[in-house]
Amino acid sequence: MSKTDQMKAIRDEILTLKESPLFEYRTTNKYFPVIGEGSHDAKIMFVGEAPGRNEAKTGKPFCGAAGKVLDQLLGHVGIVRESVYVTNIVKDRPPENRDPTTREIEVYGPFLDRQIEIIKPQVICALGRYAMGYIMKKFDLELQLEPIGKAHGKAYPTTDSYGDLDIVVLYHPCVAVYNPHNLPNLKKDFEILAKYK
Ligand code: URA
Repeated sequence: MSKTDQMKAIRDEILTLKESPLFEYRTTNKYFPVIGEGSHDAKIMFVGEAPGRNEAKTGKPFCGAAGKVLDQLLGHVGIVRESVYVTNIVKDRPPENRDPTTREIEVYGPFLDRQIEIIKPQVICALGRYAMGYIMKKFDLELQLEPIGKAHGKAYPTTDSYGDLDIVVLYHPCVAVYNPHNLPNLKKDFEILAKYK
């Protein structure tokens, strides 16, 4: 199966994922699941938390205020958004943008795992503490877990079935939405990505 067909299979499964605690909320509100967007051969993969309202209305990840910040950060290091792959752990919007639950992460995590296997990125950027927690546990980096205030901007080498890769922990772009004074710190952290371009 081609990479595109494998991604479509993931989309089809999520569309009918009745066991998800977010299924009814999505269908009642006529929202879309947000599977991911970008190059299926990306060297760099970004993993956020869960779609917000704009994302659920369009089916596109990071297309609202946090997405504008992400675009600025990518621009700062000269990375073209179309060359990377952007997704979230949880593929449906949690009500009122609340934090995802453990159950939701459990339900959607395996889809993210499959996306990583399809794309085989050289670097996975975990945006925010939920993505950091999930990705670091997945890659047996649990013992190196520390609060995001310490982990941000660091790269953690690891291995997947397809070879070596780095996990890079980054603050979630929404921290610059809430407080634009944080933008310079986020830009500085993004500079670590220049070497993977
Ligand atoms: N926040 C996220 O974590 N993901 C999105 O797609 C949008 C906002």
